[in-house]
Amino acid sequence: MRKLPHLSSNLSLLGLSSKKLEEFALHEGEQAFRGRQIYEWIYQKGAKNLDSISVLPKKWRDSLQNKGIKIGRLDEIRRVVAEDSTLKLLMGTVDGEIIETVGIPTDKRLTVCVSSQIGCPMGCRFCATGKGGLNRSLDVNEIVDQVISIRETMHRRPTHVVFMGMGEPLLNIRNVLDSIECLTNDIGIGQRKITVSTVGIPDTLPDLAKLAQERIRKVKFTLAVSLHAPNQDLRELIIPSASSYPISSILKDCKKYIELTGRRVSFEYILLGGLNDKDMHAEQLANLMRGFQSHVNLIAYNPIVEEKFKRPSQSRVNSFRELLENKGVAVSVRASRGRDKDAACGQLRRQTIEKIKIN
Ligand code: SF4
Repeated sequence: MRKLPHLSSNLSLLGLSSKKLEEFALHEGEQAFRGRQIYEWIYQKGAKNLDSISVLPKKWRDSLQNKGIKIGRLDEIRRVVAEDSTLKLLMGTVDGEIIETVGIPTDKRLTVCVSSQIGCPMGCRFCATGKGGLNRSLDVNEIVDQVISIRETMHRRPTHVVFMGMGEPLLNIRNVLDSIECLTNDIGIGQRKITVSTVGIPDTLPDLAKLAQERIRKVKFTLAVSLHAPNQDLRELIIPSASSYPISSILKDCKKYIELTGRRVSFEYILLGGLNDKDMHAEQLANLMRGFQSHVNLIAYNPIVEEKFKRPSQSRVNSFRELLENKGVAVSVRASRGRDKDAACGQLRRQTIEKIKIN
C-alpha cells in the first residue's frame, strides 16, 4: 500500500485539517469535497466511526475500514461528577491504555485539562501519575478527542484548554503542537486560551519557541513552568528529575523563550504544607521572579494516598500570597476543583487500574 499522506502512526483521521482531509480524499481517488464531508462529520457532528458518516459511499467506507483507517475516537470507560460539577472522564485507547481528562466548568468558562502522555516519566513526588512511570506518548487524535469528549459529555463548548493532565507535554511536543493547531483551527479554541505546562526538560524551551513558530506561526499560547520550590535542594526533593536542570538554567531558558515569542511565562507553585510554604520560601520565590515578565499561580496540594505531604491551611496560602504581592509579584491562587472526587492528577485513573487488576 502506498503511504497515505498526513495520517498518524495509528491511521486516525481526527486531528487532520480540512485541507489535509481533502488531500486525503484525492489520494484515495475520491473528489476533494468528500474530505470536507469527513471534516464536518468529525468536528461538527462528532462522528465516532466512519460507518456513521452516511453521506460517504458505502464502498469507500468499507475500503477505508479494510485498510485500518479510522476516525480515532476513544471509548469512554468511566465518568465521575464532583459536587462542584467538575467532570472526570476516563477513556480507553485501542491498545488498552486509560487516559484521564477533566472538565472544569464555571459560569463563563469550561476548561479542559488534557493529558499528553499515558503515565509520566518525571516522577514528581506529590503526583499520582508520576508513580507509575511512562507507558507512551499520546497521538494527536487522542489529545484532541479529550476536548471533543468533554464537549459532548458536558453539552457545552470548551473555552480553555490546559495541558496539565497526565504527562510532560515537552516530551511529546510535536503532537502537542499539532493538537494546538487543530484545537485552534478546527475546534474553535483561541490559542490565547490554551496553556502548556512543563516541569522543565533541559534545553527544550528555546527549541519549543522555534518549533512553535514554525508550526503554528505566531505563538500565543501560555507557557506555564512548574517550579514548585524556590531553591534547588527543595526542588530536587519534590521533583527528583530536577537534578539535571538547575533552577538558574530554567530561568535563563524562560528568558530566551520570552525574547523569542514575546509571551509572558507563568510559574506554577504547588504549596505543600510545612515543606515549601514558609515565609522564607515566599521571599526566595519573590527574589527569583525579580525582573521577570511573569505571573505566579499558587495551588494548594490535593493529598494522594501514596505520599504523606499535607495540604496547607487556607491562612498559610493567604499569607504566602500576600508576601509575594507585597514584593511586587503578580500572583493568583488556583481554586481546587472536584475535591470530593479524587482531585489530584492521575488519582482516579490509578484507582481504576488497581480495581481492574483486583477484579
Ligand atoms: S506533576 Fe506532571 S510532570 Fe510531574 S509526574 Fe505528574 S504528570 Fe508528570
